[in-house]
Amino acid sequence: MHEVSVADSLLKIAVDECRRSGYARINNVRVSIGKASGVMPEALLFAFDALKADTIASGAALTIEEVPVAGHCSACNSDFTTDESFVLCCPMCGSSSYSIHAGRELDIKDMEVD
Ligand SMILES: [Zn+2]
Repeated sequence: MHEVSVADSLLKIAVDECRRSGYARINNVRVSIGKASGVMPEALLFAFDALKADTIASGAALTIEEVPVAGHCSACNSDFTTDESFVLCCPMCGSSSYSIHAGRELDIKDMEVD
């Protein structure tokens, strides 16, 4: 399951960051996940909960913010967002002359630590 390795690296980053800042406990981790990132939020939550047990994040909650896929079409010059997880053509005009500028992210936004 892809989400296990994603949760594992998120957890490592969070723990490293927390330790480097001199804190001992992570209470909350907020991540933004693009709909086109290929990560299922439910599966990520499940994996995070399973992996956090023996870490300083054992009491941490994972808050997931889903980012919709957004792009710009150069054929009709419009910006668009979509609820789909991928884009095959511009939803406005059907052209394939578009670029995606949001929806692939997988980032830690912030954390609450003690
Ligand atoms: Zn278009």
